[in-house]
Amino acid sequence: MSVNQQAHTGPPYGQPQPGYQGYQQPAYGGQSLPGVPQSQYGAYNGPMPGYQQPVPPQGYFPSLGFPSKGSPVSLNSDTSLAPNFIGSLRAPPTSGAPPPASGASHPSGHLAYSPFEHGDVQNGIPASAAPMQRPPASQPFLPGSAPTPVSQISTFQQYGPPPASVQQLRNHMAGMTIGSTAASAPPPAGLGYGVGPSSYPPTTGAPRPPAMPGPPLTGQTVAGPPSSQPNHVSSPPPPSSMAGLHPGTPMSGLHGPPPPTHPPQPGYQMQQNGSFGQMRGPQPNYGGAYPGAPNYGSPPGPPPPPKRLDPDSIPSPIQVIEDDRNNRGSEPFVTGVRGQVPPLVTTNFLVKDQGNASPRYIRCTSYNIPCTSDMAKQSQVPLAAVIKPLATLPPEETLPYLVDHGESGPVRCNRCKAYMCPFMQFIEGGRRFQCCFCSCVTEVPPHYFQHLDHTGKRVDFYDRPELSLGSYEFLATVDYCKNNKFPSPPAFIFMIDVSYNAVKSGLVRLICEELKSLLDYLPREGNMEESAIRVGFVTYNKVLHFYNVKSSLAQPQMMVVSDVADMFVPLLDGFLVNVNESRTVIASLLDQIPEMFADTRETETVFAPVIQAGLEALKAAECAGKLFIFHTSLPIAEAPGKLKNRDDRKLINTDKEKTLFQPQTSFYNNLAKDCVAQGCCVDLFLFPNQYLDVATLGVVPYQTGGSIYKYAYFQLETDQYRFLNDLRRDVQKEVGFDAVMRVRTSTGIRATDFFGAFYMSNTTDVEMAGLDCDKTITVEFKHDDKLSEDSGALLQCALLYTSCAGQRRLRIHNLSLNCCTQLADLYRNCETDTLINYLAKYAYRGVLNSPVKTVRDALINQCAQILACYRKNCASPSSAGQLILPECMKLLPVYLNCVLKSDVLQPGPEVTTDDRAYIRQLVTSMDVAETNVFFYPRLLPLTKADVDSDSLPAAIRNSEERLSKGDIYLLENGLNVFVWVGVSVQQGLIQNLFGVSSFSQISNALSTLPVLENPFSKKVRSIVDMIQGQRSRYMKLIIVKQEDKLEMLFKHFLVEDKSLSGGASYVDFLCHMHKEIRQLLS
Ligand SMILES: [Zn+2]
Repeated sequence: MSVNQQAHTGPPYGQPQPGYQGYQQPAYGGQSLPGVPQSQYGAYNGPMPGYQQPVPPQGYFPSLGFPSKGSPVSLNSDTSLAPNFIGSLRAPPTSGAPPPASGASHPSGHLAYSPFEHGDVQNGIPASAAPMQRPPASQPFLPGSAPTPVSQISTFQQYGPPPASVQQLRNHMAGMTIGSTAASAPPPAGLGYGVGPSSYPPTTGAPRPPAMPGPPLTGQTVAGPPSSQPNHVSSPPPPSSMAGLHPGTPMSGLHGPPPPTHPPQPGYQMQQNGSFGQMRGPQPNYGGAYPGAPNYGSPPGPPPPPKRLDPDSIPSPIQVIEDDRNNRGSEPFVTGVRGQVPPLVTTNFLVKDQGNASPRYIRCTSYNIPCTSDMAKQSQVPLAAVIKPLATLPPEETLPYLVDHGESGPVRCNRCKAYMCPFMQFIEGGRRFQCCFCSCVTEVPPHYFQHLDHTGKRVDFYDRPELSLGSYEFLATVDYCKNNKFPSPPAFIFMIDVSYNAVKSGLVRLICEELKSLLDYLPREGNMEESAIRVGFVTYNKVLHFYNVKSSLAQPQMMVVSDVADMFVPLLDGFLVNVNESRTVIASLLDQIPEMFADTRETETVFAPVIQAGLEALKAAECAGKLFIFHTSLPIAEAPGKLKNRDDRKLINTDKEKTLFQPQTSFYNNLAKDCVAQGCCVDLFLFPNQYLDVATLGVVPYQTGGSIYKYAYFQLETDQYRFLNDLRRDVQKEVGFDAVMRVRTSTGIRATDFFGAFYMSNTTDVEMAGLDCDKTITVEFKHDDKLSEDSGALLQCALLYTSCAGQRRLRIHNLSLNCCTQLADLYRNCETDTLINYLAKYAYRGVLNSPVKTVRDALINQCAQILACYRKNCASPSSAGQLILPECMKLLPVYLNCVLKSDVLQPGPEVTTDDRAYIRQLVTSMDVAETNVFFYPRLLPLTKADVDSDSLPAAIRNSEERLSKGDIYLLENGLNVFVWVGVSVQQGLIQNLFGVSSFSQISNALSTLPVLENPFSKKVRSIVDMIQGQRSRYMKLIIVKQEDKLEMLFKHFLVEDKSLSGGASYVDFLCHMHKEIRQLLS
């Protein structure tokens, strides 16, 4: 049972750098446990950043927002701080030598952690312009260079011969032409898409529902294609015929969907799909394929002769990913140039910080922003940044340095309070600086003064992270702390449901066993001997049990609170303790808990009082912290926050569907607010056997920056491994407490909307009781003035937080973007993965207030407008029937379709209300890599894996036609990992992988692959482990045999195919998007 057998070893990356951050390696994170995957890439499973500054015990206070009052740039108070003082402790020296981190105090042998050891490349912005990684974004647009006509894409395909010729595709697309050519000619400039030129009043469709927050959909029609387009009636052939009717196509043993409802039509030649030789399955019943799209399924009038769109000729995610890997994976991404689009999230690349934040911290939907708001509205491209302030970095990259500006705190602009950064302009010989955000001129504090060189740059430029790097940290002064008191180290409180189900399933015993060892791996800073975090324990069913585990006690003491209506903590001394001091008492408690409740008959639970108890305990201890709550059932016991079962699947596809996503009482919203004020973050582990209302129980975790994990029908044998892995990672991961984030922007744009797990009490400050290394905040920007191409646009994200040792810090990330007056420049510098991250979050928030269909239609409409704007303004003249996509957005249709088909927006019959609420909250905090694989899962042919190489087999597209019944595949989406076995797989392979002699003997009850001593088994297990290590949650392994019942579940993730819940196939959806675009253009 005790999985944690390994002794805690020292940080493998060497000692932390005195004066700067260390890099502590928690044992769980970086070492292989039995079967615990080790990441090839440190970002997820690798070392977690720690900090080594010893921290004084500190107090606390409630504050909302940044203490702007607290950081005046004093001209007088710090005169005693001569410049060289700065070099003595944490700040870099003022000489040209490397900063202290890599200087005398830096232990030799661990140089890899200093960015200053990589020479000038990583040492801030070089005097000369950094090498350009790609053509400057501002370079004039060359017609024809950027657009990707679908008809040319086949040259990039890896599967099969270049099938449908260019002419064939043109013919096909021409077949979709609506009305006359005159009607499809681009409308005069300024007319837009039949709506107003810049403000886009919705002249056709229904007005945007007020419930859909956020501006990007401004003015768009939400009710589907404009009804004023008479021509659409004569439109497209039934997609079923286009999408996959293959007369006489053998199905190769795959169980495809039922036969098409239309008789087979002669169309294009059916085609082989490259190495897998499978035919595309039929896509029957087009009408049902896309219920969300009016006018789509049942085109009036006789359909024209059907033609088939070749799946190999449409943009392939696999090819785009592969091309980016090949083109950009070998060179480091150097951040010295403004507005550079980073490599895709699926590309492995190193980042060298030369003045802009790494894309691991910030990714943008576009790196070239329209200069005017009219232009932005015309394009409909949302301007958003996906920010992961505490992202884990791979070991090869340097953590942000910690900078100490002394007693007066970080140097900031007097007016807008922006923090010192590489874009500030020093003037008057260095005595003042002009703010890059608001242009205000501020005196340089005497202790910060430095001379300028002949280029106007401070001579200590390279020695100061805040002048030369995109990301760094400041040590915060007491002014940045609640009540002007330094905070105490945070506390963790473990709160275990001991009702009948929890005990009977073995969960209680499992948790207690695990905690005995896990408590030795609480987050620590740098080289600290032990964690500063104190721990406490509560168990509960209808009542709460508190435990006194004071070190002086021989045995733990239990105190029961049965009055849950007004929760209080019955003991202060002895509740929160140091693990080492109370080790024996804690061990005794964890031994006793499973015994104490072994015979319980209590089935009812409370929930809100549990959170209240944790909150009160943290209040009493005057610290921030995290509650780890392990909960099994709907809290129906009489208590505040009591819930009833209000699940009702009949509400799906009605106007009341939104209520399924809303909490059933506002009680938890108020509780969440109190928790945030105290810095009480809640992580919730759910083990439901039936509906327990995730939408309501999730409110507090969600708004406090916490996480929710869900293990439905938890079974000890099959699920404990996954749960324990999640728990270990959750307890150990880097987390900041009592966090406030603000994003400042240069004049012309401002942050207007925010998505993620947090609380906001005003319009600018994102508050999180806890923020861990996996959590992402998506921020949308709007114009409030004109931007200029010369100065570009700047973002500064400042996160104020308390470290795991109680140190108050500011983490700063800066990013500079280009600005453009040509739409083509915008479309050449977009990042579709980030765009999808934003759109998914926007839509997933929309379902709280609007019917799901409205949300889906709005998404389609916005994307059609984005693509139509490109077609009209940027693409070179071509046949009106041709679908032309911007090169860097050519995957927008396929990814958008995946979002539309997702469980939240289009649930299949097997998806529960709790699943949907859970996914909705999960996606809202996902980073770009996570949304990418979540919406378009990775599908790997395991039988093609090279057992002698470390590499993964090349991924294939998510379509049943790509599967061969003679092969075994792996599919993962960040939550589940499937191993699919074809019916004709060689017996030898089955024997090697599953240890059984035939296909029929493979058990799909397996939750792990058997450990067998042969190269194929080893290779497959190492692939699974590697992939597990790249994800922030341990994925559930599901074995799927072809033609087995479970295959339905698996097929749900073959997202290029028509889905059982009615989602369109990629081919069909592309045709639909094309039609929408043409309607907008005509
Ligand atoms: Zn300013």
